[in-house]
Amino acid sequence: MVEFKEISKSYKKGYLALDNVDLKIDQGEFVFVIGESGAGKSTLIKLILKEENPDSGKIYLFDEDITKVRNRKIPIIRKQIGVVFQDFRLLENKTVYGNLQYVMQNLGYSRKYIKQEIPKLLKSVKLVGKEKSYPHQLSGGEQQRVSIARALIVKPKIIIADEPTGNLDPKTSREIADLLVEINKDGTTVIMITHENDIVNDLCKRVIRLDRGKIVRDEVGGKYEEN
Ligand code: ADP
Repeated sequence: MVEFKEISKSYKKGYLALDNVDLKIDQGEFVFVIGESGAGKSTLIKLILKEENPDSGKIYLFDEDITKVRNRKIPIIRKQIGVVFQDFRLLENKTVYGNLQYVMQNLGYSRKYIKQEIPKLLKSVKLVGKEKSYPHQLSGGEQQRVSIARALIVKPKIIIADEPTGNLDPKTSREIADLLVEINKDGTTVIMITHENDIVNDLCKRVIRLDRGKIVRDEVGGKYEEN
């Protein structure tokens, strides 16, 4: 469903953020992307979201070469991907319900659908009862759950989580990772950038390690550090 073929990307001359990367991620996989700061993890994600274009190579998303896709089609691509960020990016002046409603209205969903869908979304992230709370009244973990619910609105085929637990304590981090595992069990592909050794080691998923723009390890059931 996501395939990189000989992808290179540079921002400035002489330094490759991604260096001839080949990668294939199938529907339903759970993949950790790890590596030092500057290794190319965010660039990988930006290319999937078509926020950046590669210098060379092809990127297939749902069997379509997105390096060729016209700008006008980008929103259609993005609608199939849910994105979760480290810093939640919630609207502070709206309640939990309001945050979800706002996005759904912008996507053009009907009032009836929105009303019937939000309770389901909140249930799936275990936030029933919090609909009237504002972000500042929620814990970090709860705020991240709202942001996951928001990512689920479009019923995405892929969820990309860019250090979703970067601002959370270890216990809450694990709960968020477990929630992403649950979502993955329903068939949604999850690509998660993380620096958390414990989570990677415990969950035993596919681990892709980037180092200076190259995939130096790609292992199913991998650990954070190489054995
Ligand atoms: P990571 O997410 O693993 O920290 P990035 O993909 O953000 O790595 O960065 C890979 C390399 O590309 C780094 O050397 C970084 O400095 C460079 N880079 C990333 N984004 C930009 C940008 N917008 N302009 C210039 N250089 C960038």
